[in-house]
Amino acid sequence: MNRSIRDADAGSAVVAPGRLRQEVFDTRRRMRIGGVFYLFGWTLLVAYSPLGSVYPVHALAVAAAFLVLAVLRVVVRPALDNERAHPRWLNLQWGIVFATAALWGVASGLVMLDARFAAANVPILLCTVAYATACAHTLSMRRGRALACLTLVYLPALCVTWRVDAGAGPAWALLVYFAYLVLALVSSHREYRLRLDLDEELRIQRDRFETLSRLDALTGLANRRHFSEALDAEVARAHVEDQPLALLIVDIDHFKRFNDTHGHVAGDLALVAFAQRLREQLGERGVQLARVGGEEFALLLPGLRADAAAVLADRFRVDLGTSPLPLVVGADAVRASIGVADLLPGEMGEAMYLRADRALYRAKAEGRDRVVCAEG
Ligand code: GH3
Ligand code: MG
Ligand code: MG
Repeated sequence: MNRSIRDADAGSAVVAPGRLRQEVFDTRRRMRIGGVFYLFGWTLLVAYSPLGSVYPVHALAVAAAFLVLAVLRVVVRPALDNERAHPRWLNLQWGIVFATAALWGVASGLVMLDARFAAANVPILLCTVAYATACAHTLSMRRGRALACLTLVYLPALCVTWRVDAGAGPAWALLVYFAYLVLALVSSHREYRLRLDLDEELRIQRDRFETLSRLDALTGLANRRHFSEALDAEVARAHVEDQPLALLIVDIDHFKRFNDTHGHVAGDLALVAFAQRLREQLGERGVQLARVGGEEFALLLPGLRADAAAVLADRFRVDLGTSPLPLVVGADAVRASIGVADLLPGEMGEAMYLRADRALYRAKAEGRDRVVCAEG
C-alpha cells in the first residue's frame, strides 16, 4: 500500500511511525500553500508601481516563475510509506522554497534599487517582513535551512534600505526585526524538536501497549483478541488464494484437577511449558498460535487440510505422553484433547472455529486424550 500524503492532509488515521516521516508530514503541511503569497506580493507591487509598463516581460517572467514554484510545492507529493524516498523529497521541497525565497530577495531588491519604482517600496517591505516572519515560524523543522531562507528573503531589502537611507530609522528597525526573527526561529526550532521527541515517545509507548494488548502475559503467546483477527485474515486469504486452512483447538485434560492436586503455581508452570511445547512442535513459520482460554490453545495451519493437521496434532498428543513436560510437577499426568477443522468453501472463520470446538467437545466426551476431526 502506498498511501499518499493526501490521506494525511485529510486528517485520516495515518500515524507517522518515525521522526523522518513526521518531518515529511509537517514539511508538506506547512510548505504546501506558501508559494501563493509570493505570487500575490509580486502582483501587488507590479500593480502599484510602473514596473509592469517599464519591464513588462521581466515582470511577467518573475510572476510566471512564482506561479510555477507555487504549483510545484503542491504537486510534488511525498509517498508517506516510502521511507527511503523521504530525504530526497525533503531536499526537493526545500529546494523549491529556497528558489522562491531567492527569487523574491533578488527581484524585490532590484526593484527597490530603481528610484522609478519607489511606489513599490512599502508593499515590498511589508511583504518581505511577512514572508521572513513566516520563514521563522513555519519552516522551523530545520534551523539552518530556515535561516538561509529567511536571509534570502530579507537581506536584499535590508541592504537596499540601508544603502538608500544610510543609518536611518527604517534600516535599523529592519535590522532589529531580523535579529528578533533569528531568535524566534531558534526558539521555534527547539520547540519543534521537543514536539518530535514527545511524539516519538508517544509512538513507542503506543506500539508497546498495542503489542502487550495482543499478548498473553503468562505464556507470551498471542491472546484471543489477536487470534480472532488473525483467523479472519487467514480465512479471507485462504478463500482468495483458494488454499486449504486448518484449525486446531487444544485443551488440557482435567486441568482443574491438576491445579487441585499440585497447586496453582505448578499449574501456571505447566501452562508455560505446554505453550513452549506447542511452539516447538507446531509453531512453524506461518502458523498462528495463541492461548485463547485458561488451558485452551488454538493454532491456524495455512496450507493444510484437516487430515494432515490431525496427523500433526496426534503426533503432538502422543509425544506429550511419551516425553512429559520438563520441570513440571505431575507432568506425566498432563494430556490434551484436540479438535480439528479445515475451512469449507465460503465458510467464515467463526463457523470454522465453532466446528473445531464441537470436535474438541466430542474428543472430551469420547474419553479425552485424543484428536477428533470436525464434520464437514
Ligand atoms: P476438561 O478436561 O474437561 O477440559 O477439564 P478441565 O478441568 O481442564 O476444564 P475446566 O474448564 O473444568 O477447568 C479449567 C481449569 O483451568 C480451571 C482453572 O483452574 C484452570 N486454569 C485456567 N486458567 C489458569 C491459569 O492461568 N493458571 C492455572 N494454574 N490454572 C488455570
Ligand atoms: Mg481442560
Ligand atoms: Mg477448557
